[in-house]
Amino acid sequence: MIILKGKGVSDGIAIGKMFFYERQTGDVEKYEIEDTAAEYERFEKARLKAIDELDVLYNKAVEEIGEDEAMIFDMHKMMLDDEDYCDSVKNIISEEKVNAEYALEQTKNTFYELFASMDDEYMRGRAADIKDVSTRVMKILTNSGSGLEAGDEPFIIGADDLMPSETVQLDKAMLLGFATMHGSSNSHTAILARMMGIPAVISLKEQLKPEYSGKDMIIDGFTGEIYIEPDERTSKLYEQKRKEYELQKEMLKQLAGMDNVTLDGRRIDVFANIGHISDAESAIVNDAGGVGLFRSEFIYLENTDYPTENQQFEVYKSIAEKMNGKKVVIRTLDIGADKQADYFSIPKEENPAMGYRAIRICLDRQLVFKTQLRALFRASVYGHLAIMFPMITSVAEVRKIKQIVDEVKRELASEGCAFDENVELGIMIETPAAAMISDLLAQEVDFFSIGTNDLTQYTLAIDRQNQMLESFYDPHHPALLRMIKMVVDNAHNHGIWVGICGELGADLELTETFLAMGVDELSVRPSAIFALRKKVRETDVSKSLKAGVLNDYI
Ligand code: PEP
Ligand code: MG
Repeated sequence: MIILKGKGVSDGIAIGKMFFYERQTGDVEKYEIEDTAAEYERFEKARLKAIDELDVLYNKAVEEIGEDEAMIFDMHKMMLDDEDYCDSVKNIISEEKVNAEYALEQTKNTFYELFASMDDEYMRGRAADIKDVSTRVMKILTNSGSGLEAGDEPFIIGADDLMPSETVQLDKAMLLGFATMHGSSNSHTAILARMMGIPAVISLKEQLKPEYSGKDMIIDGFTGEIYIEPDERTSKLYEQKRKEYELQKEMLKQLAGMDNVTLDGRRIDVFANIGHISDAESAIVNDAGGVGLFRSEFIYLENTDYPTENQQFEVYKSIAEKMNGKKVVIRTLDIGADKQADYFSIPKEENPAMGYRAIRICLDRQLVFKTQLRALFRASVYGHLAIMFPMITSVAEVRKIKQIVDEVKRELASEGCAFDENVELGIMIETPAAAMISDLLAQEVDFFSIGTNDLTQYTLAIDRQNQMLESFYDPHHPALLRMIKMVVDNAHNHGIWVGICGELGADLELTETFLAMGVDELSVRPSAIFALRKKVRETDVSKSLKAGVLNDYI
């Protein structure tokens, strides 16, 4: 038995076989070829097979999501039939006497750059399609998959690190746990693991080796310990530990249907954070009062091209319907920084966390923003939706957003599309700038939701992705808590509600403080709801105030 020690970032015990995910490096070998005609034939076969695959995908998409959405696969087929593209591969093979993979890679790069440098935004977006179709052919040529297919049995995934875009591609039903060499507790991958309720250990460094792939493993998400090929005694102990944890969760479920009310009668909304339509189920099972944060960018990360209005409409409608009249706060696209999708073609940045992300992209690329807003408003008649905007820093941004929202509403009305006129519009308070002018911002919107993950990173000047800074990332820092108090007071002074949707909302050490501050809503991962309800029901706010729980934050 080998024991590894990392950092537990998502509670629970996972027992199963590990599959180590090795990212395709993208390095393409170049070697000499004598029979260039046979080599081109090899490319041609792979190309035709890729076209067959695209046919299957097209038909499946027509059936499942509609003809408009399926068009992307048709367009990819056209690209593979393009004479210039095929000629380029052929010429490189015959003139340079090189292998098909190398010729394809060169062709992909030339065409990618050509599209990426075009002025027209639509054509620029096609650069990602060139990459996508070329990768499809390359996989056939080299006989390799994405690397994320592990087999038929549920498994624990091991990896050096996982990007959010990779994590969302994993089949959640097959996933028992996460074990990674790198990563930070506040990265979106760790947040995703917690949101899905899947045990996770990060920061294992070189202790975690790819050769452990296929071996039995136990993950202890509480202590950060990992056991490879555990002995019988350890296996039994952990089976027992897992059962006890399950039992504890079952016991907490006795709180289902009960109010989130303190001993002295203060009520608070306890909502769920979700990232995928399938998480709505776990919000319901855990008796969430609503959804306080739906991270809509995961729809974009799961796609290889901009999700269409209809595709998004179906997702928002379905969540609104599933939540059956309970409030669902959908956050508009928060892409950028660690959440990257190739087709956005975001140039490489020196400082991505402080860069081109979230509302900045939406205000800059208004077609993308308007498409999402149209889908949201159309879905608003199927339940109780609210819309929230991320990464706000100024009143001017909010006014611009409201102007675009009005335009979208006018367009929909003129097309005779039904929508709810009174959808609440809120903003995330996750930059120090927004916190400091929250008195002004409160006059512009219907609610605030405090994003403590980013608010911590920007207030303390600590990159939340940086593993080396983990011990400095302190969301209990009085600077943060003072800001939260200030935002709550400013919201209430202007008659709007305020919630917390960052990870801190689930931190039971601060529940008493948040209740004393008068926070109206806490939105947490579904699995944290019952424990939070228990804590709320055991708290006496007047006593806490008398004991001076807020003294440091006034
Ligand atoms: C936050 O910043 O606290 C937040 C909820 O948003 P995200 O973690 O997705 O950046
Ligand atoms: Mg954030």
